[in-house]
Amino acid sequence: MLKVHSRCDLSCDHCYVYQHVDQTWRGRPARMPPATVQAAARRIAAHAHAHGLPVVHVVLHGGEPLLLGAAGLREVLAELRTTITPVTRLDLRMQTNGVLLDEELCRLFVEYDVRVGVSFDGDRAANDRHRVFAHGGSSHDQVRRALALLRRPEHRASYAGILCTIDVRNDPDRVYEALLAESPPRVDLLLPHATWDHPPQRPGPTPYADWLGRIHRRWVDDGRPMSIRMFEALRPGGGGTEAFGLAPADVLVIEADGSWEQVDSLKTAYHGAAGTGFDVFDHSVDEVARHPGVAVRQDGVDGLCATCRSCPVVDRCGGGLYAHRWRTGSGFDNPSVYCADLLRLIDTVDAYPPPPAPVSGEWSATSPVDEVLDDLATGHGSASTLAVLAATQLSITRALLAACRDRSGTTAAWELLVHLDQAAPEAVRVVLAHPFVRPALVHRLDPSAPSGLGAAVDPLPALAIAAALRAGVPAAMTVPVRADTITLPTLGSLVLPGLGESAEVTVRPGEVQIRGGSVARTVRLDPLASPSTGWLPTRDVPVPGGRLLLEDGDPYRDCYGQPVEPRLEVPAARALGRTLGQAWQVVHRDVPAHAAALDGGLRAVVPLAPDPARPLRSATARHAFGAVAVTPHPDPETMAVLLVHEWQHAKLGAVLDLYDLVEPGQEGRIRVPWRPDPRPPEGVLQGVYAHLAVTQVWQSRAATDQRDASAHAAHFLAWTRDGVDALLASRSLTAVGERFVGQLRHALEETRVGSR
Ligand code: SF4
Ligand code: SF4
Repeated sequence: MLKVHSRCDLSCDHCYVYQHVDQTWRGRPARMPPATVQAAARRIAAHAHAHGLPVVHVVLHGGEPLLLGAAGLREVLAELRTTITPVTRLDLRMQTNGVLLDEELCRLFVEYDVRVGVSFDGDRAANDRHRVFAHGGSSHDQVRRALALLRRPEHRASYAGILCTIDVRNDPDRVYEALLAESPPRVDLLLPHATWDHPPQRPGPTPYADWLGRIHRRWVDDGRPMSIRMFEALRPGGGGTEAFGLAPADVLVIEADGSWEQVDSLKTAYHGAAGTGFDVFDHSVDEVARHPGVAVRQDGVDGLCATCRSCPVVDRCGGGLYAHRWRTGSGFDNPSVYCADLLRLIDTVDAYPPPPAPVSGEWSATSPVDEVLDDLATGHGSASTLAVLAATQLSITRALLAACRDRSGTTAAWELLVHLDQAAPEAVRVVLAHPFVRPALVHRLDPSAPSGLGAAVDPLPALAIAAALRAGVPAAMTVPVRADTITLPTLGSLVLPGLGESAEVTVRPGEVQIRGGSVARTVRLDPLASPSTGWLPTRDVPVPGGRLLLEDGDPYRDCYGQPVEPRLEVPAARALGRTLGQAWQVVHRDVPAHAAALDGGLRAVVPLAPDPARPLRSATARHAFGAVAVTPHPDPETMAVLLVHEWQHAKLGAVLDLYDLVEPGQEGRIRVPWRPDPRPPEGVLQGVYAHLAVTQVWQSRAATDQRDASAHAAHFLAWTRDGVDALLASRSLTAVGERFVGQLRHALEETRVGSR
């Protein structure tokens, strides 16, 4: 946190900087001098380099950072970008009261990719209670104008959210509605800073929990229409924040005079509480991190008082904000002064069902989409980001499913799916998440789309039967038949000559009874069944993320525009499974960050038919998230590169379902080094994203001196760099697309630095 300006144009009476016990601001320069900015940037860059940090977050803070003016801020931002960006990804943020925000500043923040949080306490009465000028006048109109500027489409990428300090005298419904009206990507609700020496106003045993509980109920009833970090952080597994949870503290403050300080909120404890005695001119981040006040906050539960250590919700509360534990005499060795409220608030949060988890439910409007995009712009993306992408894909599949219901002549399959979704949601989720369900639904909705499959059949009955089998729930259904075959996604295919056009299928534990055409028999769904039984189970191999399906039976795997292999003979299936398992290990060895993304989402591999003219091929289909198609190449090292390359396309395809990264209607073509013909912008974007990952694989192999790896790395690096530059110069990207590709550029620089 960089205190670029230590004075403020507002005079809020709840401000911990000026109105609480610490008064160190009085001895500091109003603005951070350029030499201090430079020293701070160098310290941050050196620390990121020494520890190989993939990302550093820098928040411009104050006082009021906008008092630097556009020119002063540009100097600071340029210094930070120039010094830190060549070393690591720099996530730039700002916290402001918004009063001085104007269009010029918004453009500057978009240009430098700064995400801006605005302090705003809610409706006019709430905001004016504290957030006023020195003459007592309201700041409400100015702040709302600032929020309106950030909401504009051209600035929206720089809108991080709202920070709202609670006052229990305010009407929680009005505050909630005022916040919601500003469409913030995220809201941070802050408990007012207080300590055991200076306790908060307390008109009742748990007034803060009661007030927050009211907002929580409105928020849940409204379908959680915005992210409210406090509520999300307090759920089991919510991840915590600076104020909650047991994660090690990872914030340091650089004051306007270059002093290193601990978190700002400590200013509420006692004069000089945040001080360390270190400064950016003479001391590194590592030296500051060894300061006892910082080190104790790396100790998780061991750094808490005895009461908190034995608390049943300590993993979620974490003793509350560090500053709120202060009491003269016992220091910070106390529970939070908000302990009773925190306990009750956690009860409140627990009283409501959780939002659908990304891996098992619908896409939620509260999911942090911008963070997802930023994470993927590192070149890979974390497992949690992959879970969000999978959830968005599942949400699309569910929407298509509902559209297909309306085309269905009968409601039986839909009703069974709805029943199972309540009784056995995981079974339905697994079936609907199968990569070839969406192609089947799309084909059903648009049978005119080119396909070798001919007339579309209703996919809902087979989906319902597959889900019932997975759930172990007895069911019966008329199921359409195609070419004597009923395919049950994720499970396998029933192939029974003479079945006719439809069959009555009855589900029993471990078997199905089938009547159709000239067939009437019971088939055991044995994973080792002989093909003569009519049951061809989908085979799979264990991989670190779960089980990977060898999908050589689903008819909708034919969506790659390339011939696919028919069902593999047993030896060929075993050989492919072995190669894929080994390739997965190679990905873990070479590029663990990509391996995490692979573990988090790749669920099926489709074997492509051999083509002597092009022995090494691979493919991804936009509608079939979770699967890639490959020629069954026997070398795991080669297969690893194919998997990483194609998985990049799959991830980016899922992103393109969420965002327009390319301006719609772009007809221009871009020349790229990897193709002889000029490519459309989206094709170039796909190319650079895949090549960035392949570059990273070869970089890693070059580091262990594998033969020819350096040459391959240099080759893919040059391709990727040229592609990114051509894309950025083409002016074909949306603002979000430019931001994304700009971040890819940073990731590429990181790759380049790593290669030296
Ligand atoms: S705007 Fe922020 S820094 Fe300024 S007085 Fe208010 S709380 Fe303090
Ligand atoms: S502050 Fe209270 S609720 Fe939080 S961990 Fe400590 S004892 Fe538990």
